[in-house]
Amino acid sequence: MIKNRFIFALLIILFTSAKPGYAQKPNVIVIVSDDAGYVDFGCYGGKQIPTPNIDRIARQGILFKDAYVSASVCAPSRAGILTGRYQQRFGFEHNTSTLMAPGYQVTDVGMDPSEQTIGNEMQANGYKTIAIGKWHQGDEKKHFPLNRGFDEFYGFTGGHRDFFPYQGKRSVEHALYDNNQVVPESSITYLTDMFTDRAVSFIDQHTKSPFFMYLAYNAVHTPMNAKKDLMDRYASIPDTGRCAYAAMMTSLDDGVGKVMAALKQHHLEENTLVIFVNDNGGATVNSSDNGPLRGMKGSKWEGGIRVAMLMKWPGHLAANKSYSLPVSALDILPTSIAAAKGKQKGPKKLDGVNLLPYLTGLNKQAPHEALYWRRGVAAAIREGKWKLIRVKENVLLFDLDKDLSETDNLAPNYPERVKSLLEKLHKWEKGLDKPHWTSSYGDQNQIIKHRMETKGREMEKMYP
Ligand code: CA
Repeated sequence: MIKNRFIFALLIILFTSAKPGYAQKPNVIVIVSDDAGYVDFGCYGGKQIPTPNIDRIARQGILFKDAYVSASVCAPSRAGILTGRYQQRFGFEHNTSTLMAPGYQVTDVGMDPSEQTIGNEMQANGYKTIAIGKWHQGDEKKHFPLNRGFDEFYGFTGGHRDFFPYQGKRSVEHALYDNNQVVPESSITYLTDMFTDRAVSFIDQHTKSPFFMYLAYNAVHTPMNAKKDLMDRYASIPDTGRCAYAAMMTSLDDGVGKVMAALKQHHLEENTLVIFVNDNGGATVNSSDNGPLRGMKGSKWEGGIRVAMLMKWPGHLAANKSYSLPVSALDILPTSIAAAKGKQKGPKKLDGVNLLPYLTGLNKQAPHEALYWRRGVAAAIREGKWKLIRVKENVLLFDLDKDLSETDNLAPNYPERVKSLLEKLHKWEKGLDKPHWTSSYGDQNQIIKHRMETKGREMEKMYP
């Protein structure tokens, strides 16, 4: 009898301690980078700046060749990621500003509180949730991550901040929060490393129950604050801006490496879906490189909206594969819910789709019939290989299969195609709300940057 009890106890110990985490729902980690150039990742062809840890996500999973964000600037793009819905549906068309539309107040700038975030959804499905890094979804209490579906928050509410401590006065949206507490500037070392450390400690503390992590780095957004030792590593790069950019990319990649190492250490690799996405194309001001893509952050050219996106879930998704049909960062929310075998709790219709059946080959169709963009006067639609850009009366059409760099405007040659794409775009716009605030850059900037004659990086950089 005693012997049987002993064997029984031994079996229990073996059963519960072998492969921790395997019996539970998978964790989901969404890593966001900020304003990185399309070809500044090794896995997307980058040669100058090593990104071995981000590349390893691609090797262990899927690289998306035609991945898009729903906006070419930070805040609306992140609103799309966080809700799985075109952010214009709730008036979040522009980057945050104080240029309010009639009927709205400055306190309304941010994600509409009636929207459900990915944090809300994962919480409702039994997940512990944390948001780390740049929030950029409003500065009011009603917008604060702890009130928007996240159990924990470690980050700042604005769109950027210094990576090193501020010496003088700093504004409220630049404060680093540890949940409700402001972290003293004197405790700040280097922001990218601090976000990484918090992500690792959160994983260390949550090895026994499922978690969702939104790890939204502000690297490699301006200001170009880099660590001295890493600047030294890239001293051979003659352009000091590019040198700082390379050093900041390396801090980002090192951080991703540490987070992945924490998963491995706790044997959570096969029980964690990791999604990496860059929030918009390389910016005009951070020395990033968009390679063959025309345009930069802020534009409807591919350089503004086509981004690096990777997904790994060992044992569930194939390793070292690429996926070429167009996908959207809006797909992250429904894919996360599906990985959790959960159900959407929010009542509103999502624009994103669960990508898992497409990635496993169960569904061979295109995930989206078409993808859409609009920010003020500039709008675009992609359907199959066709991409149409509409900025007031200026309508451009490109065949992305043949012309990735959007050099040959085919609009005059295909009037029927143009007509049908314009109609689809117009139909989509009927489901949008009016912007709740507008952009300080104004229409003229958009009009000029989308002219065929505005070409070449130097010219592009004149119209951010
Ligand atoms: Ca950004």
